[in-house]
Amino acid sequence: MSIPMVDLKGQYQTLKAEIDAGIQETLENTAFILGPNVQAFEKEAADYLGVKHAISCANGTDALHLALLAAGIGQGDEVITTPFTFIATAEAIAYVGATPVFVDVEPDTYNIDPNLIEAAITDKTRAILPVHIFGQPADMPAIMAIADKHGLKVVEDCAQSFGAEIDGKMTGGIGIAGCHSFFPSKNLGCYGDGGMVTTNDDEVAETLKQLRNHGSKVRYHHDIIGYNSRLDEIQAVVLRAKLKHIAEYNNGRRRAAHQYSDGLNAINGTTPPAEDGKGNHVYHQYTLLSERRDDIMKALQEAGIGCAVYYPIPLHQQKAFEADCQGVSMPVSEQISENCMSLPIFPELSEEQVNTVLDVIRGVMSE
Ligand SMILES: *Cc1c(COP(=O)(O)O)cnc(C)c1O
Repeated sequence: MSIPMVDLKGQYQTLKAEIDAGIQETLENTAFILGPNVQAFEKEAADYLGVKHAISCANGTDALHLALLAAGIGQGDEVITTPFTFIATAEAIAYVGATPVFVDVEPDTYNIDPNLIEAAITDKTRAILPVHIFGQPADMPAIMAIADKHGLKVVEDCAQSFGAEIDGKMTGGIGIAGCHSFFPSKNLGCYGDGGMVTTNDDEVAETLKQLRNHGSKVRYHHDIIGYNSRLDEIQAVVLRAKLKHIAEYNNGRRRAAHQYSDGLNAINGTTPPAEDGKGNHVYHQYTLLSERRDDIMKALQEAGIGCAVYYPIPLHQQKAFEADCQGVSMPVSEQISENCMSLPIFPELSEEQVNTVLDVIRGVMSE
């Protein structure tokens, strides 16, 4: 039985009638850019996440870029972030002319370690950019306390955490802005690229609306230099259909993840990810640690089971950031990158499929 890392077909099959009808309607009414579905989706997403404003844009990378601009981060500023993330997090910092300053992560959640943040603050630090990696919320209460004490802004990278909660709040509504990605494989994914920024700040929301649409509030009146970064109407149709089921989808991921963790806890030599701490993990990825990662991956691949290393090289060791990271060492991130691997996870993953994956891992570890 082959098992993919992610299977997007199941959701399309169950939502096909609604999605097809919505796309067909858009083709006929031709409101392709910033049409009624984009507006409705922004309202529905803001309501779901419990935030005042949701401003959609072209992708998650743009969401980060525009949010940093709207938060006033720019040339010469330093932004504290995690090295254990997808490159887009730090690329966005570089796009606005700021410098990413990496702070190592916690060994069990893989998220930025709040205990190490203060030592990295300088007189150039303007913001902290935590990532809720793999769907596990970063320690926002601790991060917000540090930010408040030092007058820093917090921009959340929620690309992997749509619907995750910490301290009774959904990610994306805690810092000044939350940046979401709707890349197809994300917890809430569309059928192409899509992104969104959430905020409770009216001024930031207004600036974001301008930035995503060529700096204009009124057509052909451009107050600032903006960008062309809008969510497509057809993608908004897909997102509206899926948003209605996001809680159920995230619960499906959690069910599969807990089954994996129960199984791995009984296998020597594998360490499951931290489960819900102060928050609720929505398992964008299910990522475990093992010194025998390469053996496990080889056996899974031979059995036709998807697996991958997210992420093999932490950002402070990437060539692109060489200039900013001379002599920087991040031992926890480096160790995680050497030992981490991610297993198949998606809401429809069955109990039987999880058992098949666990059987292969058990087989390798008992050799
Ligand atoms: C996917 C992702 C992004 C970028 O989102 P895109 O929509 O692909 O541009 C940013 N940060 C993290 C942590 C991601 O996983």
